[in-house]
Amino acid sequence: MQSISPEIVFRGNDAWEKAVPQITKLTKSPLILGRSIHTSKLRNIIFRDLKNKNLNVGSDNLKFDCCYEDISRVKKIILNNQHDSVIAAGGGKVLDSGKYIADCLNIPCITVPLSASTCAGWTALSNLYTRNGQFIKDVVLSACPKVLVYDHKFIQTAPSRTLASGVADALAKWYESSITSSTIEDGLVQQAIQISRVLRDQLLIDGERAFKGGFESASWRNTVEACGLTAGLVGGIGGEKCRTAAAHAIHNSITQIITPNTYLHGEIVGVGLLLQLRLEEMKNNNKLADQSIQQLLELMQKLNLPTTISQLGINVFENQNLDKIAEFTYRDKSEIHSLPFEITKKDIVEVIANFEQQKIKL
Ligand SMILES: [Zn+2]
Repeated sequence: MQSISPEIVFRGNDAWEKAVPQITKLTKSPLILGRSIHTSKLRNIIFRDLKNKNLNVGSDNLKFDCCYEDISRVKKIILNNQHDSVIAAGGGKVLDSGKYIADCLNIPCITVPLSASTCAGWTALSNLYTRNGQFIKDVVLSACPKVLVYDHKFIQTAPSRTLASGVADALAKWYESSITSSTIEDGLVQQAIQISRVLRDQLLIDGERAFKGGFESASWRNTVEACGLTAGLVGGIGGEKCRTAAAHAIHNSITQIITPNTYLHGEIVGVGLLLQLRLEEMKNNNKLADQSIQQLLELMQKLNLPTTISQLGINVFENQNLDKIAEFTYRDKSEIHSLPFEITKKDIVEVIANFEQQKIKL
């Protein structure tokens, strides 16, 4: 069984207002889940609007991350207060937590992304982390969210950094799915890969204008919907095989190094993507990889995205960080093994060391 998309998607400037009648039909006692204080105003609007419809609304915030500590605490709150749905309103960690909790308790999840930073509002997948933000594993859920509310007015309030992060994460879809899945005969997988190529092209065309331009532009609308909706659709149609490869494997291992800085998912994935292309160049004789790197670097720099691990606040040559990253990237369960060519742990060390030493040659 494959869950391709949320049952209902509301999108655009008045998506939230349009969704309210649907939500009141679906739930009588929702728990609104969030995290950041920066988005609390938006959650207050959601709370107020549902309260005005006489729903018995509760709210709670993650203390740490999409982690077991928060998940079991929120589960208890839901059970004690007999909530009958979760409304996850926030970024990727909140959306993933809400989906995971609702799936465990077999109640509907309504996702309300408050930035364009990931496609987590769409997918039937949650990434679990430790309370310190170290990646543990991803979990396939029984279904995509019941309702997705992609309200552009809400997303406009997010810092532009979240949009840049969403662009990097969505760009990875093409580079990861095409390398891992282009030999799969399933027509749906092939079509998903083609959608991810169009998605990449759209981001290369519109990404910078969306980042720098106004919210009213078609570029902004296309870009936020590409990051939050189309990227999720690619995962839905393509299924598990169409999802991740080295870029996300390297992301997962970089999160193992705890630093005082908090970088967004897509910011780390973007660096992983450049490293994946270097691996393809070195081990798969991919002559186009360098061209792709230059093309991506140009866009990433315009979007103020980090382009090296050191720009993520980690010196790989200290504290055996390079070994730790290579070890985690190469572990048995890692997505790196879905690359269609042989690599060793030494290759990972070499690629990262060269990359960080050279910094970036443009
Ligand atoms: Zn991602």
